[in-house]
Amino acid sequence: MPFALDQIDTELAILDREQLRRSIRSVDTPCGTEIQIGGKALLAFCSNDYLGLANHPELIAALSEGATRFGTGSGASHLISGHHIIHDELEAKLASTQSGAIPNVRALFFSTGYLANISAITALSLIGKDKTSIYSAALNHASLIDGIRLARGQGSVNLHVFDHHHLAALEDILRDDSAPHKLIVTDGVFSMDGDLAPVQELLRLANQYDALLMIDDAHGFGVLGKHGYGLLEDQTICSDRIIYIGTLGKAAGLNGAFVCAHEKIIAWFIQKARPYIYSTASSPALAFALLRSISLIEGNLGQELRARLQRNITLWKNGVTFTHWNRLESNTAIQPVVVGSNETALRLASALDQLGYWIPAIRPPTVPKGMARLRITLSAAHSDEQIQGLCKVLSDLEQNLPRS
Ligand SMILES: *Cc1c(COP(=O)(O)O)cnc(C)c1O
Repeated sequence: MPFALDQIDTELAILDREQLRRSIRSVDTPCGTEIQIGGKALLAFCSNDYLGLANHPELIAALSEGATRFGTGSGASHLISGHHIIHDELEAKLASTQSGAIPNVRALFFSTGYLANISAITALSLIGKDKTSIYSAALNHASLIDGIRLARGQGSVNLHVFDHHHLAALEDILRDDSAPHKLIVTDGVFSMDGDLAPVQELLRLANQYDALLMIDDAHGFGVLGKHGYGLLEDQTICSDRIIYIGTLGKAAGLNGAFVCAHEKIIAWFIQKARPYIYSTASSPALAFALLRSISLIEGNLGQELRARLQRNITLWKNGVTFTHWNRLESNTAIQPVVVGSNETALRLASALDQLGYWIPAIRPPTVPKGMARLRITLSAAHSDEQIQGLCKVLSDLEQNLPRS
């Protein structure tokens, strides 16, 4: 047997022992609150389909109409021949969502948020001859961390990690930093905790110390702000220092992502962002459907769904109190319940599964050690009864599940 195969057995056995082995579960039914796995019905509180658009009839129709009109494949990367006129329309629409927040804004569309993040960070860190100082929030998403790792591999970065709850420490480092090009990078809504980045304060620091501010709003776009334009609309922020990342596989119900920034920054990305340059453009049919999704999000339906989601969040927060577990304070659709050990988290997830609820245990390295949790995500599509049922089941389990 090749060495590698032998070694993999050993290392997977270690993951099993530490209860850290991940596994795939295949869903039989479309994304929704009531799904089936292997024929078994489950109530799902784990998708990022915050508005319930992932199986919406209008988007199903738009995706098939898009395929009829524009074809299924793009055929090439954006800079060869894969950039279709419908991609232009989509980018113009995406830019319009941030036009109140970023002067001279332009948008660039990517096939995933992961690619958008590694593209933006690696390209931004190539600006100027000196090393770029990157200030990264400690709980940032893995794709931001990987972008920074790649940028460090280019040899163009000095990295500082900061705690978004303690910005005085961040300011101390910024004050002493003589690098001409500085970049602060943060999640907009922290993906495992559900709290918001202190963007007003971060922007003040960016202004004072001449830094750019990159905000990954994967969990805010579609959900926050009157029109669902995300965190910047919600916080009425405006600056040409902001690089905004939105993703389209969560609230927007399809997939894809975009960067909005000053047009000069986008012009730079088109030259330097390797995952943009060397990856096939996603389907023009998808771009067509995404245009429809954004119309839904900013219109009356979106406003109703956001109100409904907000009601569901309040219903959950008022519906349950824990004595041993810790419900993290969050006003977003991401509602974590920290239970501590991997073992408890797994036991809880499996008890929930038996009771017909799908809420996965989130373990290190996704979250810090000893902070294993249930990551409950709420959707506008959940009914009052579904949320009340979850509250009741979790209260009971907290009393009755053996603790470790
Ligand atoms: C999901 C997510 C991403 C990745 O976006 P994809 O489009 O799924 O690749 C990036 N950042 C954050 C914070 C996310 O939650």
